[in-house]
Amino acid sequence: MSFQTLGLKPELLRAIADSGYETPTPVQARAIPEVLAGRDLLAGAQTGTGKTAGFILPILQLLGTPKSGTGEAPAAAGRSGSRAPRALVLVPTRELAAQVAESARIYGRYTPMAVTVVFGGVGFNPQAESLRRGTDIVVATPGRLLDHVQQRTIDLSKIEILVLDEADRMLDMGFIHDIKRILRLLPARRQNLMFSATYSEDIRALASAFLHQPVNIEVARRNAAVDSVTQLAHEVRKEDKRRLLSHLIRTSDWGQVLVFTRTKHGANRLTRQLEDDGIVAAAIHGNKSQSARTRALDDFKQGKLTALVATEVASRGLDIDQLPCVINYELPNVPEDYVHRIGRTGRAGASGVAVSLVSADERTQLKDIERLLGRPLLRAQLPKISEPPVRPGRPVQAERSGEARPQQPQRQGQRSGQGQRQNHYRGHRSGATRARSG
Ligand code: AMP
Repeated sequence: MSFQTLGLKPELLRAIADSGYETPTPVQARAIPEVLAGRDLLAGAQTGTGKTAGFILPILQLLGTPKSGTGEAPAAAGRSGSRAPRALVLVPTRELAAQVAESARIYGRYTPMAVTVVFGGVGFNPQAESLRRGTDIVVATPGRLLDHVQQRTIDLSKIEILVLDEADRMLDMGFIHDIKRILRLLPARRQNLMFSATYSEDIRALASAFLHQPVNIEVARRNAAVDSVTQLAHEVRKEDKRRLLSHLIRTSDWGQVLVFTRTKHGANRLTRQLEDDGIVAAAIHGNKSQSARTRALDDFKQGKLTALVATEVASRGLDIDQLPCVINYELPNVPEDYVHRIGRTGRAGASGVAVSLVSADERTQLKDIERLLGRPLLRAQLPKISEPPVRPGRPVQAERSGEARPQQPQRQGQRSGQGQRQNHYRGHRSGATRARSG
């Protein structure tokens, strides 16, 4: 299977070739022809499957193709004059909005299509100005989009294609009323695409309410199917978690870690503690300004940070390739979130490790996760925890595998001596740990 056989136009094939992709991913192979044929779509696919290109590529093609029978020229053919957007992509988070818009610009670079991204936490006027100049594709979070509707800075009357990306997450985040309001503002005749990693009752209800005889596509989830991710659990006392984490970061050869906490406050506190332990870290969560979030993510992608501490919501859709290690400092309450979290590592055939620090009060969450996975997580032996070295003035940076490991590991009253348990931490860097900065 090649991109050529999917029926994409040369200008899109050229952009795909620039990106270095040779073969369509399963979701792309199935979604692209259906979207090109004008069908509605319900796709079970999460971040990491290539779903973004799966909808953006055919949308770029459809918007650039005159409608059959009408002889109408594509709206984007001439850039003069303002034009209302014809495709709307709704996403739950700012990060995902920025990434989807970036993908649309990359894949559409040889087409005349213009893309506008609309999300909160940044200035309203530049977005309004971009909309006023005329655009073809709007990628938006629901709240800010409705602000533009209210201010009459966007015209949704020409929307032909609607995408709900990460629909399950949008419902989790309470966007259902916003989504319904937006749906009412769109022309009734349109093509609808919905992507969701999970299928709850609410998702099914939403799908049946607005999709018209959709094609169903289900691609392998990134849980049990991802054999390249070694999943481990440490049973550890709550008060020992932080020292264990610092120890693991210092002594394992991961290079960089994405650490999940349950709360924003917890993310801030842990980040400070890691810095105190000499580890370069930053937090990313909903209370941070957009510029702080973008900076932290960029620093992480460029290898300037060893640890990025994230809450579930802020991490949604983070596109970080070849991340060697994801750590669940606290287990998520929703077992599916565990799958999303660990899906950040072991991508594109690289090996990865997902480590969960489980305290006694998290046993229920652990059981739920194991039920979802259909198997127990491997229990890892607790290492003897060494104290952080005396701070040399600067925290430890990423990409420091040549550095001497802390000597004299010191027992800290942890359980050990479970002889059959092994240390699984070596050899997971698989060469490239640098995050892709695209
Ligand atoms: P997504 O699931 O859309 O977030 O995409 C996950 C990652 O896969 C992104 O970094 C894309 O750049 C990459 N990707 C998308 N399509 C392909 C492809 N056909 N081959 C290789 N990588 C791809």
